[in-house]
Amino acid sequence: MKSAVPRALRNARRIFPRASSTRSSSSSSLPRLGNNRLNGTTTLTSQHRNFSATTGLRDIDEDKDRKWSTPLAKQLAAAIELTGPIPLASFMRMCLTSDIGGYYTGAIEKDRDQFGLKGDFVTSPEISQVFGELIGVWFLTEWLAQGRQSRGVELIEVGPGRGTLMDDVLRTIQSFPAMANSIDAIYMVEASPELRMAQKNLLCGEDAPMTESKVGYHSVCKYNALPIVWTETIKSIPIAPQKMPFIVAHEFFDALPIHAFELVSVPASKSEAPSSTDNSSPSSKTTTPTLQWREMLVSPTPPGSTHESLKTPATQSRETPPPDFQLTRATSSTRHSLYLPESSPRFRALKSSVGPGALLEVCPDASLYASDFAARIGGSPQHPKPKPSGAALILDYGPGDGTIPTNSLRGIRKHRRVSPFAEPGLTDLSVDVDFAGIAESATRASEGVEVHGPVAQGDFLELMGIRERAEVLAKRAGEEEKGRAVEKAWRRLVDRGPGGMGKVYQALAIVPENGGRRRPVGFGGDVVQ
Ligand code: SAH
Repeated sequence: MKSAVPRALRNARRIFPRASSTRSSSSSSLPRLGNNRLNGTTTLTSQHRNFSATTGLRDIDEDKDRKWSTPLAKQLAAAIELTGPIPLASFMRMCLTSDIGGYYTGAIEKDRDQFGLKGDFVTSPEISQVFGELIGVWFLTEWLAQGRQSRGVELIEVGPGRGTLMDDVLRTIQSFPAMANSIDAIYMVEASPELRMAQKNLLCGEDAPMTESKVGYHSVCKYNALPIVWTETIKSIPIAPQKMPFIVAHEFFDALPIHAFELVSVPASKSEAPSSTDNSSPSSKTTTPTLQWREMLVSPTPPGSTHESLKTPATQSRETPPPDFQLTRATSSTRHSLYLPESSPRFRALKSSVGPGALLEVCPDASLYASDFAARIGGSPQHPKPKPSGAALILDYGPGDGTIPTNSLRGIRKHRRVSPFAEPGLTDLSVDVDFAGIAESATRASEGVEVHGPVAQGDFLELMGIRERAEVLAKRAGEEEKGRAVEKAWRRLVDRGPGGMGKVYQALAIVPENGGRRRPVGFGGDVVQ
């Protein structure tokens, strides 16, 4: 395979200043890397959830003495008692980011965090520094290709975890002073106060103060004394036409809440609100069923449920308490089922291509983020931009062939797959990312952008020169054992086998529209200087 970054990467010494080995270089043995979210002890493809057709509301008096597995579970049950079963997206949002014990926003015990061997999963930047370095180089190649703007560059990361990726990106760009000096500010979109603090400590130092403003939290970065701003959503980051935003989202989109639907055939006599323009004959009205989407809703499991009674799939560990909640199919249309499945031609096509029984997952937040990235890069009617500039790189897992994710909700706990409805707030939840949906939202939001990919992470990293960079690192590691650890770490990032991250993880780029004349590096393009 041809290396697409000949000059930038051949001069590896200049671009990558620091010689270090792997994240676990302090350990004398080869690192045990832990599981990513996809290769726990169970496999994704064999997952099947029970779609119970019963509704979830029961006489709640039965539940008075019920022991809920977490305070958040109790709160959710109380809310459902009032409102009826809730959309999966509302459940996911509460479980992940609610301030009363969401997974990222407070539920995790003090001596534990989400990442690493002692946590629940590991991510690529935590496995090897090469990952973040190559993303830094990717931004550099875009900055070079887009005319080396001397100021107005912004680095934006959504969902930055421990801050490791941004640290590796910044250290790499630092070796290229012309670009480093063009950066005005760094923005971090982070829902978790604890992770925000961890990021500040890593990027600014433990002693660096953090101040609060209307926009978010501010501190000063150890690299070039750049201002860093933390916000809770990307909407809080100002948009200006002269800015050149470089945006990265790694394992962020898979944490955004989804709505799930199933297509059902409804007998004509029962179909809702027949159209007033329906001029079919009376006989066909009673005989022709209609296809309607039904939303999957979350409701409590019956009191006294066990893993056996709930038939927890074999793909999920039964070491958690039995799930407090379950998915049930709404018996009639909901606000979301009328609107979201109609929001894209890809979704609408399912009625004819699959028919009754078709499943659909829709992530409105993913569309919002993709549209926002595109508008920042390419301009939009609301924020016109005379000259599109910047780039976004989205790395995550999900189908690379345009198929729409189905049945993809997973619960992850201590590197194992568990029921997503067990111990709400203590269980990480994640879903497959609809890359084709992201591409559609981005190009719909801005005429000034084009999308490349998704391509498999293994291909992207190899085109970016991961082998060459890792070889340099392994040599510098000195000891043979450390060298082997470096090799083991980077190989895992590109490994296309079941335990590797090279095939199931994908990369997608949003760049300024150029009529397809210039492809970004890693997506089939060469370095342009
Ligand atoms: N990119 C990091 C972390 C991935 S975990 C890495 O690869 O290691 C997901 C990250 O997104 C965490 O930092 C989490 O706190 C953040 N996050 C999850 N949902 C979010 C939301 N709705 N808004 C902002 N941040 C969110």
